[in-house]
Amino acid sequence: MNDRDRFLGKRVTVMGLGRFGGGVGVARWFARRGARLLITDLDTHDRLGPSIESIADLIRQGHAVLRLGGHDEADFTSADLVVVGPAVPRPWENRYLVAAGRAGVEITTEIRLAVERVPDPRRVVGVTGSAGKSTTSAMIACALEGIGEPTLLGGNIGGSLLDAIDRAEPDTRVVVELSSFMLHHLAGWSPPVAVVTNFASNHLDWHGSLEHYRASKQALLASQVPGDVAVLGPGLEGWTVNEGVRRVAPTPGPGVEDLIIPGEHNRLNAATAVEAALASLERTGRDTAGLRQALEGHIRRFPGLDHRLRFVMERDGVRYYNDSKSTTPESTLLACAAFADGARSMRRIHLIVGGYDKGADVSPMARLSESLGGLYTIGATGPAIDRASGGRTIPCGTIEAAVRQCRMRAGPGDVVVLSPGCASWDQFENFEARGRRFRDLVQGDSP
Ligand code: ADP
Repeated sequence: MNDRDRFLGKRVTVMGLGRFGGGVGVARWFARRGARLLITDLDTHDRLGPSIESIADLIRQGHAVLRLGGHDEADFTSADLVVVGPAVPRPWENRYLVAAGRAGVEITTEIRLAVERVPDPRRVVGVTGSAGKSTTSAMIACALEGIGEPTLLGGNIGGSLLDAIDRAEPDTRVVVELSSFMLHHLAGWSPPVAVVTNFASNHLDWHGSLEHYRASKQALLASQVPGDVAVLGPGLEGWTVNEGVRRVAPTPGPGVEDLIIPGEHNRLNAATAVEAALASLERTGRDTAGLRQALEGHIRRFPGLDHRLRFVMERDGVRYYNDSKSTTPESTLLACAAFADGARSMRRIHLIVGGYDKGADVSPMARLSESLGGLYTIGATGPAIDRASGGRTIPCGTIEAAVRQCRMRAGPGDVVVLSPGCASWDQFENFEARGRRFRDLVQGDSP
C-alpha cells in the first residue's frame, strides 16, 4: 500500500512541535498524504511562535489542529498513529505514550518513518557514538559523494530526512546520524553498516542510567544480520556483534594524515569514515579495489561542519578557519590544542576571541596571548581579555578590524582562527551570523 492510501484520513498525533521546528517536517509530510493531524506540545503558543508560523498554512487549511501548553490523553488513545519527537524524555514511562500503547495505538518517530522508506535498505550507513557523530557522518557522505555516489545525509545532523527520502533514487546511499534518543525508538532496526565512534557517559538525564544509554547505542548493532558490518571505535572492543557480522576497528593510517580539519580526534573520525564508506560500497557488491585511496583523498579535503573549526580558505599562504560555534573558553582552548598538534607551533596561530559577556572567567583565553602568534579581541568581553593579558593582545573591537589586523600580521604557514569563546549576542543575532560575517570578510577583497 502506498503512503497516501495508508494515511489518507488517518488521525496522526504529533507529540512535540518544538521551539526549533522539530515537528514541522513530519507534520508537512503527513499533511501531503492527507492525514488529519493533531499537534501537541507542553510548551505554550507564545513560546512556540516561529514553529507555529511555519505550519500556519496547514492549520488554516484544516490539515492540522494544535493542542499546546499540555497534552490530552484522548489525543493519544484515539489516534491511529502517534509520532514522538526526539526530545520527549524517558518515553518508555511517559504517561501519554504508555496510554497510547495500552490502547493498541502504533507509536513511531520521524526517523523510523524515514529509514523504513529508504529505497534500497542495503545502502544505509547508521552512525552513532558519544562524540564525533556529526563529523564522521558528514565525512562518510563527503567521501561517497566525492566518488560519484548519490548520497543523502540526515538524521540528528539536521533537516528532515523524511522529506529528503521522498526524492531519493533507487541507488541513493543514506548516511544517517543517530542520537541515542533516536535509537531508542528504532528498536528492532539495524543498518547493514553500523558505526559507533566511541562511548562515554552522556545524556543521563534523558536515559536515567548509564546502562540504559549504553543499551540504546548497542541497539544499533542488535538486529544486524550475517554479512553486515560494524565499525567500532576505540574502547568498544568488548562490545559484541551478531554472528556473521564483520567487525572493523578503525586506526588512523598515513591516508588520513594532513586533513584540512585539525586534531587527532578528526584523524580517527576520518579513519572511521573511510572504513564505513568502503563497507557500504562492498555491501552493494561494488568492487572496492582502489577505492580506499580515492575515499581518503576526498576526506582529506573535507572542510568540516559549518562554524565548527570549518576551513574557509587559504589566502597568501594563510589558512582561515571559522569556529564561531565556540561559545565557551574551554572550546577555544580545545581549538588551539587541535591546531597546535603535530608540527605547528602555537606561534603560527592567530586567534580571534571575545563576544557577549556571560560572566565566564576569560583569563584562560587571555593567557593564550603569551604563546600565540596573536590574540585579537572583539566584542563586549574584549577589554576584559585585554586587561587580563597585561596588554599582550591586539584590541580590535569588531570582527572587521580583527580580520584586517590578521591579514596584516599573519604570514605563510600561519592559521587564522575565529574561536570566540563567548556567545555572539552583543554584536550578532547568533553564532551562525557571526561565522558568516567572518567568512565573508575573509573571502572579500577589502583589506
Ligand atoms: P557529535 O555529533 O557526536 O556531537 P561532532 O562531530 O559535532 O560530535 O563533534 C563535537 C565535538 O566532539 C568536537 O568539537 C570535538 O571536540 C569532539 N569530538 C569529535 N570527534 C571526536 C572523537 N572521535 N573523539 C572524541 N571527541 C571528539
